[in-house]
Amino acid sequence: MNSDKKAAILAISVVIPLTAFSLWLSEQNKAESLSGQGHKILVTFYPIYQFTKAIGKEKIDVSIIIPPGIEPHDWEPTIQDIQKMKDADMIVINGAGLESWITKVTSINPNVMIVDTSSDIPLLEKDSNGLDKIAKKDPHIWLDPVLAKKQVQNIADGLIKLDPQNANYYQQNANDYKAKLDILDNEIKTDLSTCDKKDFLSFHDAFSYFSKEYGLHQHTIVGGLDPETEPTAPALQQITKDAQSLGLNVIFTEEAANPRVSQVIADEIHGKVLVLSPLEVTDKNIDYISKMGQNLSNLKEALCS
Ligand SMILES: [Zn+2]
Repeated sequence: MNSDKKAAILAISVVIPLTAFSLWLSEQNKAESLSGQGHKILVTFYPIYQFTKAIGKEKIDVSIIIPPGIEPHDWEPTIQDIQKMKDADMIVINGAGLESWITKVTSINPNVMIVDTSSDIPLLEKDSNGLDKIAKKDPHIWLDPVLAKKQVQNIADGLIKLDPQNANYYQQNANDYKAKLDILDNEIKTDLSTCDKKDFLSFHDAFSYFSKEYGLHQHTIVGGLDPETEPTAPALQQITKDAQSLGLNVIFTEEAANPRVSQVIADEIHGKVLVLSPLEVTDKNIDYISKMGQNLSNLKEALCS
């Protein structure tokens, strides 16, 4: 074999396949960067994280803005937090007034895409303590699985707009998640339909949409939206009286509340304390559906006993 022939064989057997391989690699990389990976998505708090992750799965890079363990109602971003948010491609918020600080982000980055998951959801008015001059909206839509379905679709619509190439993927995942929410909705209806009681005492005013959906009556230990406040002694006395006359034997508490408050009432009525979680302060690795399932079983105990 002469050296020209050798060179030709070398070119065919090694160089060409190598070139083809590296071309293929760069095509793969291109496809990857177009597939939504690398899109920086921020979400404000736990339920929104769960919904967004269920739709985008491995195709999105998503982080939570409000640190776990912090109540979203009274959280305000620092200047550093705002700086971090300005590089996001998309920020998913609950809406309905929960994140009023979001205007600080849009004022320094008008191009960031804000997905308001409360879009097209009829909101309840919320006059928390009579001191607010402007009637506020009740933000707790995520606790009603029927409204959560709408939130899920709003997130899917946002992701599709950001990354249209994967539209079918996002819509299919959204449909799968909405089917799970349908099952949860049916479970709540079925499980609570056998209970005689309709009244329950939640810690803060988080279950108005839920109560409306399932024909229940919510009473609260603290009047406002903030679970970290505590009732005054006369208020506590009145709540205890009301709990007695309603025949309640379960008093609810929640993650951000001082559990002793609920315990004082429960002791008075010889009842017990259980958790009814508004899913505001919780670990992002805990699944929304199973957390709602725990709420359902505790509510069933309160309403059916
Ligand atoms: Zn709340």
